[in-house]
Amino acid sequence: RRRLKFCSACGSAEIGLTVPEGDHRERYVCRHCSTIHYRNPLIVCGVVPVFEDRVMLCRRGIEPRFGKWTLPAGFMENGESVEEGALRELAEEACATVNLGPLLTVLSVPYISQVHMMYLGEMTEAKYATTPESTEIQLFREEEIPWKELAFRTVKTALEHFFECRRQGQYSLKRAKIE
Ligand code: ZN
Repeated sequence: RRRLKFCSACGSAEIGLTVPEGDHRERYVCRHCSTIHYRNPLIVCGVVPVFEDRVMLCRRGIEPRFGKWTLPAGFMENGESVEEGALRELAEEACATVNLGPLLTVLSVPYISQVHMMYLGEMTEAKYATTPESTEIQLFREEEIPWKELAFRTVKTALEHFFECRRQGQYSLKRAKIE
């Protein structure tokens, strides 16, 4: 992530990387007002939207991975629950709604300091629409999934786990570290 340039508390540009007293890691600390700017992992939440025997994927209309296929997901916002975030992202990216099911994946992605959490979502109708973020939306059967054209490894992991669970007839939580 980018270097912090300005203090969000006082606006000063005098920010240095130092280990605060009692801490064990370097943090961005404002030399002007002493505010410590902690930077911690971000949560990405999303949905594996399922309609009958098909999964909905979106073709990305934005970078990164422009043109690749993804599951509707995005950064959780302040003031919302993970479930609310997952449903909001689905609405924003695909104008769709689902009945939210069990949590399918908790994937730690330490090299980009993110945690990806994907829920099962049951669509009661095949209703969706493209948005600036998603230039194409399509429902895929397992054998139709564009595995080589997926945007992120977390998406691949979530899809593989979903199909495995469906074969087993039981949904479980997949936990993994993506390196
Ligand atoms: Zn400051």
